[in-house]
Amino acid sequence: MHPTLAACPAVAGAVCGFLGVLAGCVAVTANAAVAPEAQPVAQQAAVLARIRDAAMSSDWAWQHLTDLTDKIGPRLSGTLQLTAAMNQLADAMRSLPAQVTLQPVKVPHWVRGEEQAELVDYPGRPVGVTQHLHLTALGSSSATEAKGLTARVIVVRDFAELNNRSEDVRGNIVLFDARFDQRLADNGYAGEAYRQNGVYRFKGPSAAAALGAAAALVRSVGGADFRLPHTGATMWKDKQAAIPAAALSAEDADLVARLAAAGPVRLKLILMPKTLADADSGNVIADWLGRERPNEYVIVSGHLDSWDLATGATDDGVGVIGAAAVIEILRQLDLHPRRTIRFIGWTNEENGGRGNKAYFASVERSIETQTAAIESDDGAGRSLGVDAAVTNDTLATLQPVIDALGPLGATVLRRRDGELGADIEPLQRAGVPGFAPLVDARHYFDYHHTAADTLDKVEPQSLRSQVATMAVLAYFLAELPEPLPRFKISD
Ligand SMILES: [Zn+2]
Repeated sequence: MHPTLAACPAVAGAVCGFLGVLAGCVAVTANAAVAPEAQPVAQQAAVLARIRDAAMSSDWAWQHLTDLTDKIGPRLSGTLQLTAAMNQLADAMRSLPAQVTLQPVKVPHWVRGEEQAELVDYPGRPVGVTQHLHLTALGSSSATEAKGLTARVIVVRDFAELNNRSEDVRGNIVLFDARFDQRLADNGYAGEAYRQNGVYRFKGPSAAAALGAAAALVRSVGGADFRLPHTGATMWKDKQAAIPAAALSAEDADLVARLAAAGPVRLKLILMPKTLADADSGNVIADWLGRERPNEYVIVSGHLDSWDLATGATDDGVGVIGAAAVIEILRQLDLHPRRTIRFIGWTNEENGGRGNKAYFASVERSIETQTAAIESDDGAGRSLGVDAAVTNDTLATLQPVIDALGPLGATVLRRRDGELGADIEPLQRAGVPGFAPLVDARHYFDYHHTAADTLDKVEPQSLRSQVATMAVLAYFLAELPEPLPRFKISD
């Protein structure tokens, strides 16, 4: 059995099957008063199957993902490439034709510079020998002096150890050496493994700076050992001055930890990033108008920005293009569900979240019009089903979606209480039911935020399975006679 499936706590399957069929009956009966009850269910199943099959035989997503990654490449906020990607995507959506709006958003503009690290002293070092380490600056890191910063490395495994060694930290370089739990990822909980380990990247440098550290390093957050550093955002407290902060490759974190166990280790660090003035950017919004309730929306989305080290094929080219492809499938089949399906290509997910904040501010006062929100941002693995942040009672209503996806092996319907995507989180907090394709993410964090996040990591058939999942789900939600009950996520 697939380990992901074995580990999922809330598999719908037999328990929800019977109730799901009933819920499906109720859902479509209201839509077709004359026809016998059994027929609408069969009709609904036939439409969902056509959507699935169209998605599984379409090359639109693969071609547009290739265009995005080959012709534009990395898309960090503030860059010309991100603006070019917005225009490329807006043009593609207009030509479907969908109704396209660019929602203006000001975004942070952080630029990577020279980055180098060298071990210049350690126990047993032969005279004159130094060792080069593989690292990369974290977004919003400050710069060292051009000649670099040389200091002792204090290795800690967690925040408790940092606090216990607070006297050693001042003026030195802290290395957070927390390991990524690949076994957790192997068991279907890659997101949990990422969050558990990622807290040191998000909050470690700030905690080290608060104790007077000169700089902070984190062991890369990722499950594979290719001596690749994994970048990502780090956060500073309000009014806190940033310090130089970088991610070390896992192998180099091990090396430093081994040497430091034997005695003092000194490291020379050069990081020369710059923070420029905020730049113009925007969310790409494309509406496929609903036939009965065009002012009610089902959002299907991914983020268009990426880190600067690679072409962002899996994070989140797959998600943003896969979501856009939902509208292409409906156009192909000439299907217009009751509500509007709104595609959003979010800006600035990676280092600020300004895109989702701007969108939420624009709909906050008419939040009832936002009936459901889907985000795909969990990598390029094949679809295993659907994650749903909905009320317990709602789960059975969704059974026809899983029935339609079953032939793809996407058989899991899993209820979640938390956010299912950073960009839809504000909507979920306001009560909008949230969804994500549940994908095989066991190896997502091998390449995540590294220079190896490139198109070759995407399997076209897996991408199609994600499009099929989102297209079936989005159509089903947009066609429901009444929106799903509201569900506010907890922390
Ligand atoms: Zn992402």
